[in-house]
Amino acid sequence: MKIAQPDSIVEEVSAEVTAFLAAPKALIAGKSHGAASGETYPVYNPATGGVLTHVPACGAVDIDLAVTAAQAAFEGPWSKMLPVQRQGLLLRLADLIEAHGEELAQLETLNQGKSIMLSRLIEVQSSAEYFRYMAGWATKIEGSTLDVSIPIPPGMSYQAFTRKEPVGVVAAITPWNFPLNMASWKVAPALAAGCTVVLKPAEETPLTSIRLAELCLEAGFPEGVVNVVTGMGETAGAALVSHPGVAKITFTGSTETGKLIGIQAMKDMKRVTLELGGKAPMVMFDDMDLDLLGAAAGIGSFFNTGQTCCAGVRIYAQKGIYDKALEVIANVTRSLAIGSGLDPRNQINPVVSARHQAHVKACIARGLEDGAKPVIGAEAPAEGFFVAPELFIDVRQDMALMQDEVFGPVITMTPFSDPDEAIAMANDTRYGLGASIWTNDLNKMMRYVPKIQAGTVWVNSHNIPDQNMPFGGVKQSGIGREHGRGALDNYLETKSVCVAYR
Ligand code: NAD
Repeated sequence: MKIAQPDSIVEEVSAEVTAFLAAPKALIAGKSHGAASGETYPVYNPATGGVLTHVPACGAVDIDLAVTAAQAAFEGPWSKMLPVQRQGLLLRLADLIEAHGEELAQLETLNQGKSIMLSRLIEVQSSAEYFRYMAGWATKIEGSTLDVSIPIPPGMSYQAFTRKEPVGVVAAITPWNFPLNMASWKVAPALAAGCTVVLKPAEETPLTSIRLAELCLEAGFPEGVVNVVTGMGETAGAALVSHPGVAKITFTGSTETGKLIGIQAMKDMKRVTLELGGKAPMVMFDDMDLDLLGAAAGIGSFFNTGQTCCAGVRIYAQKGIYDKALEVIANVTRSLAIGSGLDPRNQINPVVSARHQAHVKACIARGLEDGAKPVIGAEAPAEGFFVAPELFIDVRQDMALMQDEVFGPVITMTPFSDPDEAIAMANDTRYGLGASIWTNDLNKMMRYVPKIQAGTVWVNSHNIPDQNMPFGGVKQSGIGREHGRGALDNYLETKSVCVAYR
């Protein structure tokens, strides 16, 4: 079913979604797959707290099957495909994602809790566009010719060139905040580069990843090129990371898990890309356009109920505009409608799980204990995994609320007088993923952007990644970049070839 208008309410869940929920399975070598152990685990609807369906609880045996299938496909039919054929398949997949767009969007909202509008625009539309973007790169992989200065033996000449070759089987491990979109960020460039994939989605949100793999088969990708294994991080995820058949790990998730994966990857010398946590600052100068304050909070901070790795959660506003900024941002926070994601008028939806709800509430409680002052004090619905949005003031730099990732609808506001002091506070974090500066002064912008420690700095906006803009973190927010041409390089090895001739 084609995607509906982004802002239309879901009155009734589509028949395709209901049918899929009856028995979703992992997908290995093109076949539906239950866990070898026969075990399943429940996945939930965060808006109600009820069980949505059950999926296989895969373990090491299933991971081994999936990696073996991906290896066979890599060495077999997939390696024989021309770049233009890979491009064609990726374009067909993008069309299929759109053709099944409403089903995918509803599935995501039911499982993740997010607004159906975000499911339609980001999970579906932006993912389809990313497959198209990466399809284009499949036919543009290139090395270089290199002049070299090798003097021996006399009479011999040399010409060198580089080849870019797919790295092999890719283990893609994704988080629960943008399930289909995060899977696309990994699967699209891996396939464009000529790799095969074993995708391990977050245990909370495996459903759209299963559908993505099914659509890959429908598009014509050979069996085993894209496999999906559902299961827990500590079992399925860990077995995948340490499997000797995996050549490259691409991981998005928390910094804590990223460190474990990075250490294991280094033990085996596997290639690894880590997209990790964030605690993004928004630095607002006196001369900023005050009409942008609403969007700063609405899109910058509370997008996806604050469950965004680069959400602008630490707002520093200069003293000349602080009172005004606090008033506007408090009003925005107060006015956000809370409720099920199936109604796109609700801007704050449930967080993903009971466990995450407890984490966000614990962060709020710790902030209160440490002396931070809540400005809003709203109540969340009792049913489902909701947390009401909150804005805190009087938050010191050393408080947990300022330093630790909440990953929910909780922000802080802090005044500053001197710009250098603001930049120092913005950088006073172990993270460095996203950040923003709000000013109408070009000189100020050019002076302070280089001083911000972050992989992306937005100016007069926040939280808007693009497929052509490298995305990733500095400090403990990760290693490597996704998006852009560089995303393709994550899945390619460079081979130097040196040719001797007389
Ligand atoms: P998480 O680290 O708990 O889990 C992420 C994935 O890792 C899941 O699939 C999980 O099953 C798996 N996993 C857990 N333990 C594992 C192990 N020992 N071995 C292998 N795999 C394991 O993260 P989460 O709670 O799902 O996601 C939220 C986090 O993701 C936040 O910290 C957020 O900032 C981050 N994130 C970062 C980006 C980015 O681009 N930098 C984007 C989205 C989310």
